[in-house]
Amino acid sequence: MKKEFICIVCPRGCHITVHEDGSITGNMCKRGIDYVQTEMSSPKRIVTTTVKTVFSEMPRVPVKTSQPIPKELIMDVMKELSKTTITKPMSMGDVLIENILDTGANIVLTRSCMK
Ligand code: SF4
Repeated sequence: MKKEFICIVCPRGCHITVHEDGSITGNMCKRGIDYVQTEMSSPKRIVTTTVKTVFSEMPRVPVKTSQPIPKELIMDVMKELSKTTITKPMSMGDVLIENILDTGANIVLTRSCMK
């Protein structure tokens, strides 16, 4: 059975088809092939969310993973972040949690917090 994907590697968003014979069409560059091969074997995603702070002026701060993590670990990472509270001023790009759940990804702030 053929499978269809939308490549999210760049804003072009190519519609890529993996045919029954294994051939791949619709990608405008080789990164699309790498993307669908990863999607079929071990799909990964960047996680973006917010984390609580102790600052009433900014009760939550946006964060993201520094690199894509396996899709099956997203809920565990979200749970871990729901238990986290920022208690000191931090800058955009600062690492809040290193190597979260051994994924190799850091949790970084995407906005400064009280600075
Ligand atoms: S296949 Fe290449 S050009 Fe198309 S969306 Fe993916 S990265 Fe962009």
